[in-house]
Amino acid sequence: MKCKKCGEKASVNMRQHKLALCKEHYLEWVPEQTERFIKKYEMFTHEEKILVAVSGGKDSLALWDILHRLGYQADGLYLGLGIDGGINYSHESQRLAQKFADERGLKLHVVDIEKEYGQPIPVLSEISHRGHGKPCAVCGLVKRHEMNRIARDLGYAVLATGHNLDDEAAVLFGNTLNWSSEYLLRQGPVLPSADGLARKVKPLCRFYEREMTAYCLLRGIEYIYEECPFAEGSTSIYYKELLNQLETARPGAKLTFYLKFLEARKRGDLFIEQNVGQAHLHPCPKCGQPTSAPGLCSFCRTIEKTQQLSLSE
Ligand code: SF4
Ligand code: ZN
Repeated sequence: MKCKKCGEKASVNMRQHKLALCKEHYLEWVPEQTERFIKKYEMFTHEEKILVAVSGGKDSLALWDILHRLGYQADGLYLGLGIDGGINYSHESQRLAQKFADERGLKLHVVDIEKEYGQPIPVLSEISHRGHGKPCAVCGLVKRHEMNRIARDLGYAVLATGHNLDDEAAVLFGNTLNWSSEYLLRQGPVLPSADGLARKVKPLCRFYEREMTAYCLLRGIEYIYEECPFAEGSTSIYYKELLNQLETARPGAKLTFYLKFLEARKRGDLFIEQNVGQAHLHPCPKCGQPTSAPGLCSFCRTIEKTQQLSLSE
């Protein structure tokens, strides 16, 4: 297999794009494509401050690296969740995120959830009794809240996450199986800013997961290989496996599934009333973030509940 650009030996073969590239041209191709997607979906400009949610995994570090190479003003945010799972997951992922930032002279904000709210995620989840054993419901709630909070308090216009095509296709598949109209209408590369929340963008949403793995390996980016121990057995991993089977039989199927969805959504062709799910929002009296719940938002309610319970123990 030869590189399409220079004829040298190819390092990466992308069947879905009918494109093979050598290391040098692959490492040029990825940022070029990212820049194209940033412009196409009007994600952000060079004048805007961007906060990249960094987990220490390959996608978020690749995203930060690419934005830095493209000359964007991108700082990182690492949330210390306090998850050990026998592999010291949080400790190791923070070490790698910090190492990445230090080596490049980039700014990484670190928020330690335990220091901030008294308990690490698994304990917050246990005492709040949300999520039936797995901490993912509370974890998702806390991560969303903290990303919004830091972006607002530190004046970032844009919040960027490293979701890749495999992530987006799996979410789309799940939302389609459940015909979750509210989520389908909100899913996309850009969620505009609203109610004082920063704009959310996913610049890697058109890259396959293996393309990001190849990028990190060829760029020499050290990242945490292990997934969060709580991800094991999750529905989204199951959907990813199903979609991988489909992709093997029909290269490009994942990308087509996602892109055709975006086109249909743009045309207003989703067979869904465009005004569903526009619940009335008001600012939470405690943290100021928008909520549809009467009184406190679900994050503040969860934290309050866990604090009351730990006091009464
Ligand atoms: Fe949080 Fe881990 Fe669950 Fe992901 S898999 S939501 S990081 S607990
Ligand atoms: Zn609140």
